[in-house]
Amino acid sequence: MSIVVVGTVAFDTVETPFGRGENVLGGSATYFSTSASFFTDVSLVAVVGEDFPEEHVTFLQGRNVDTTGLQRIPGKTFHWSGRYGYDLNEAQTLDTQLNVLMDFQPELPESYRDAEYLFLANIDPDLQMKVLDQVRKPKLVACDTMNFWISSKPAALKKVLQRVDIVVINEGEARQFTGEANLVKAARQIMALGCKRLVVKRGEYGVLMFTPETVFAAPAYPLEEVFDPTGAGDTFAGGFMGYLANTGDLSEAGLRQAIIFGSVMASFNVEDFSLNRMKRLEFKEIKARFSSFKALTSFRDVAV
Ligand code: AMP
Repeated sequence: MSIVVVGTVAFDTVETPFGRGENVLGGSATYFSTSASFFTDVSLVAVVGEDFPEEHVTFLQGRNVDTTGLQRIPGKTFHWSGRYGYDLNEAQTLDTQLNVLMDFQPELPESYRDAEYLFLANIDPDLQMKVLDQVRKPKLVACDTMNFWISSKPAALKKVLQRVDIVVINEGEARQFTGEANLVKAARQIMALGCKRLVVKRGEYGVLMFTPETVFAAPAYPLEEVFDPTGAGDTFAGGFMGYLANTGDLSEAGLRQAIIFGSVMASFNVEDFSLNRMKRLEFKEIKARFSSFKALTSFRDVAV
């Protein structure tokens, strides 16, 4: 089954202790689509400006991403600048230029409206809502967000969170949104808004998936070299949703597998700048790392 995703397609200027990339390809929907495209068909809803090079669109199409819903309008493409210190867990945003995002009116092509899987990637919550309203009867809707929208549009964001099945959010942002320091309590508060599941991304500490009754913990893959964490959250979400759409298995076991595929995709993405690692990634590497994850988390039960 295919996934519709709305999010940003961006130019990023990123500094990490290992280098700097200026105006490189980025954006929540770009990372998500590329990652999910290893598992399923993806239909993109996004906006770029006149300055956006056609080669980036060709790259997405080369990964079989349907770009019918990618609008090009007068103005400049969304631009994000960020920096990471040696603690690569949290980006420091230096500048956010919304540019064409301010005039974006998402209009879903008819072929997108019957999508069964919808991912509302990090973007203005008003835009997330407009897309959600245009998809007729999705089987699964998940969403992401970030501190920028939590601070600037908390009420609109709350309305989105009330309408989705799964919320995927960073640890720091879960705390910021709820004002609750304890992560388990913060998770309960977010779930009280109505979602069935909450996935909390914790950078190099992995991921927690909460339901009202259960918690599942997955580590991050222990890598010797992490160059650029930008897009880790979105590639995670792409692997997670991509695998779910591929199998259609929404059982607890299926969701746990999907969490590991998401973690596998994020672990590759951080190995190089921008989408460079995704561009040379092969499916056999994904399968091999999934097996390494299994070994990483497997241990013997106590004898009774
Ligand atoms: P992450 O997966 O959280 O590292 O997301 C990184 C991507 O988010 C970057 O490529 C940015 O272009 C994009 N981004 C940064 N700020 C925003 C924002 N306020 N809204 C939407 N996307 C953003």
